[in-house]
Amino acid sequence: MTTKRWEDLAIYQPQVARILKNSVTGKRLAHAYLFEGPIGTKRFETAMFFAKVLLCRTRDEEGNPCGECHHCKRVDAGTHPNLFVVRREGEQIKKKQMKDLIHEFSRESLEEGPRIYVIDEAHRLNQESSNTLLKTMEEPGADIYQVLVTDQINSLLKTIVSRAQVIHFKPIETSKIKEDLISKGVDDLDASAIASYTNNYDEAATIASDAKYKSLISFVRELFERFAIPKKSPIILFRESKEGFISDSTLTDFVLSIAALFQKDVLGAKLGHTDQRLFVSESAILEKLAQSASQQTIEDGLDEILSLKQRLKYNINATFAFEKLLMTLERGYYHDVPSRTRSV
Ligand SMILES: [Zn+2]
Repeated sequence: MTTKRWEDLAIYQPQVARILKNSVTGKRLAHAYLFEGPIGTKRFETAMFFAKVLLCRTRDEEGNPCGECHHCKRVDAGTHPNLFVVRREGEQIKKKQMKDLIHEFSRESLEEGPRIYVIDEAHRLNQESSNTLLKTMEEPGADIYQVLVTDQINSLLKTIVSRAQVIHFKPIETSKIKEDLISKGVDDLDASAIASYTNNYDEAATIASDAKYKSLISFVRELFERFAIPKKSPIILFRESKEGFISDSTLTDFVLSIAALFQKDVLGAKLGHTDQRLFVSESAILEKLAQSASQQTIEDGLDEILSLKQRLKYNINATFAFEKLLMTLERGYYHDVPSRTRSV
């Protein structure tokens, strides 16, 4: 959900919403903010919302922007003359970009009212551009606000960090990402898988809208169904489906991640931890698999999946390794054979 009001932000970043809202309603605004935290935690979106709050002249008592006025509309359209966004050119944010920014800010053609600049990926500022930025931070104009966005706070000059109010963005909770995907029409199985795979909000949304990933989730689901019904071979299913992912390490890693989640759910079923079940819609398969193998065999299977995830980072024959994994899992579920002989 995009942020239109403070309570929208509070769903994902309650602490951030509280701190920023209080500084707006209590008229205790800092001139410089540093939005710090992992990618996919709504940092940039929050920067744009915050800019809208500052620019809107008809915000309500709670500090929400009206969303309707000329200011709000132009922030949404990316055309507000008093809002500047600086992004890297190539690998760095260059001194010339910062000079241009300062020049723009001094122009009389700007409108009355606050002026805001947002620097995305602020750790991309090089030495020269950092120094230029510092000068503006030392003497901020009365109604000038800056928001720096970064996931690498330690790469910023300490003098920049110390002049800004640091706002920490935490990884978004899995349950919030799942709810969000479901509200966008993603089915429960896919939403559970994707939200557990990543807590990067943007990545989750991208994956959910990509049919390729959806088909990989149903491939893994079908694999586990075949482990539960011995007459349909998982290896044949793999050979029919592998073209879709095996030569792409990101997709293969995704398949193994989802398989690990399934296997964890089987282990949960074995241990009776059904309240923590992820793939609730697959309960029948999970229970059947839990009955067909011992706890040891299921745990070994999970180890094998996670170990292949690691080994795929090296240049191994993925098709061969994947088939071997399936045979191990199959043996475990069909004959309850643990993957290794253990010394007692
Ligand atoms: Zn407005």
